[in-house]
Amino acid sequence: MSEHTNGVAEYVARGEAMARAEAERRSIMRTKKFDTIAVHGIYDMEAALANQGSIIEPGFMSSAQHFENSDHMEAALAYLMPAWVYSRIANPTVHYLEETLALLEGYGFDGEASAVATASGMAAVFMATNPFLQKPEPGTNIVASCRCYGGTFMLFAERYGNERGIDIRWVRNPLDLNEWAEKIDGDTRFVYGETPSNPSLSVMDIEAVANIAHAAGLPLIVDSTVATPALTRPLTLGADIVIHSTTKSMTASGFAIGGAVIARHGITTDIGPDEMRDNFAMYVKLLPFRDHGPGISPFNALMTINDLRTLRHRMDSLSSTSMQVAQYLEGHDHIDRVAYPGMESMPGHEVAARMMWLVDGADDYGTEVNRYGHLLSFEVKGGAKAAREVFDRFEMIWRATDLGRIKSVATIPAISTHQQQGDEGRTLAAVPPNLIRLNVGGEHPDDIIADLDKALAALDRSTMVAPTRRSV
Ligand SMILES: *Cc1c(COP(=O)(O)O)cnc(C)c1O
Repeated sequence: MSEHTNGVAEYVARGEAMARAEAERRSIMRTKKFDTIAVHGIYDMEAALANQGSIIEPGFMSSAQHFENSDHMEAALAYLMPAWVYSRIANPTVHYLEETLALLEGYGFDGEASAVATASGMAAVFMATNPFLQKPEPGTNIVASCRCYGGTFMLFAERYGNERGIDIRWVRNPLDLNEWAEKIDGDTRFVYGETPSNPSLSVMDIEAVANIAHAAGLPLIVDSTVATPALTRPLTLGADIVIHSTTKSMTASGFAIGGAVIARHGITTDIGPDEMRDNFAMYVKLLPFRDHGPGISPFNALMTINDLRTLRHRMDSLSSTSMQVAQYLEGHDHIDRVAYPGMESMPGHEVAARMMWLVDGADDYGTEVNRYGHLLSFEVKGGAKAAREVFDRFEMIWRATDLGRIKSVATIPAISTHQQQGDEGRTLAAVPPNLIRLNVGGEHPDDIIADLDKALAALDRSTMVAPTRRSV
């Protein structure tokens, strides 16, 4: 440094002014309604004028940032001033997405929250959990709901459990608060849940489980992909860290894979350095994230920014359609069970009804309204064969391992998302072979129901015996 000390100090001062201006923009946006935040994020007129007047957030596709001189470079690379440096670490377009996500998940939350965007939902699950598993000792364990996404199940069971020897304590019934409490001990690193879960739509009481985790000095991490912040904001219910696969409802167009970790400042944990506790998302972004390299492409970030603008309206109307579809399915002779958090027959419906509200819904409807999202699943009578027969007859509903889309999509989890985890794992995750997961899209409900109705009608004629092979 020496002769350059003053030069670097000038950039540090410039950086402080930039950070203050951004904090100001953030605090202005925190006074706005959910839709306004979703539409604008922190990209304001001043930001536009610095970008040739573009009213839409520019896509910065450059891998790296140019610096004015070596002092500027030194200040930026030492993390002494806001800078983006290199797109594996940060990128201005990705930053717009991160700020919007932090504001949306932090909507109605008293404290501060920050976000880090990742290349996929799985990268987010990894980045949110791996920092707590440093220096594992015999007995080191995690307590997690077994009703979780298949990839999360494999990450925990295989990568953390079998490869690293961490004890994975699955909570079999996430509605049973005693089970959560009993599985936690002095060697537990974090508590993890997904609500509503994919694909069984199981719910858990975030507030109650957060209290249990905090009493043991542990953070609660919640995968809130299926609910989205338009319906539930776990930080307001006591969760420390929220995970999203932004691939899903947040990017309903289906144009991008992505994920995000959004954390409150001051999480409950005694693991890691103070910086990790103070601002987990920032810590992850600046250190472990830089070394692991799971950054999202700025192009993908732009796709998500664009779809997020209409998130609340979409979740409202898709939820209404889904309720109609769930009611149709529940009344059908060939269906054993429908899992949708909005159905009174669903275990934990009262918990879902307490947590899942359309944000700012009273402004539209004059009263608060429950909304339960657009993912549901149902079990077809007659086992795996009958389920496949119905599935193969869809003429409009896509057969794909996907969800969150504006197009209706169905999958059979036992042969797709939960194929790798074996019979025992599938039983744990409540994924029977006759379960069809349906992502309800934006088509007219009558047309979705008609496609289901026609496919299910095949079972009226079916003799349910093995098909005879015809020789040609
Ligand atoms: C899809 C999904 C993930 C993984 O996200 P990707 O973007 O596919 O990596 C994690 N959690 C839930 C609940 C999901 O539905």
